[in-house]
Amino acid sequence: MGKALTKNQTLVLDTLSKADGPLSAYSILDDLRDEGMQAPPQVYRALEKLLKTGLIHRLESLNAYIACRDPDCVSHPVTGFAICETCGDVSEFAGEKISKQLKDWEDDNGFLVEKTTIELRGICRPCKG
Ligand SMILES: [Zn+2]
Ligand SMILES: [Zn+2]
Repeated sequence: MGKALTKNQTLVLDTLSKADGPLSAYSILDDLRDEGMQAPPQVYRALEKLLKTGLIHRLESLNAYIACRDPDCVSHPVTGFAICETCGDVSEFAGEKISKQLKDWEDDNGFLVEKTTIELRGICRPCKG
């Protein structure tokens, strides 16, 4: 299942999977210079493809990318992220109820939603102590 990834896509996915937190396109590029990645467009093309396949997510508020850690992710209509401002940890969650509410609002208002971003910024449990 799934389509085979190109070499660059695999490199980018590996980098994101090994990272402790979200990475910007430029830090991904920095990590992969030794692997032959030279130019930002190479990284952006790979990121775009990985985003489409759902293997990674883009965190709008950080302008950074993170590997998907939820094997059931694609079956969830809305994915949310909780970002710790202290340690930078990012948790992914499925917003089932939120998605229902958004859908109701969408229907009531005749608004066509193309993209939904849910990002919570705060302090994670370990950091709260
Ligand atoms: Zn995911
Ligand atoms: Zn934290």
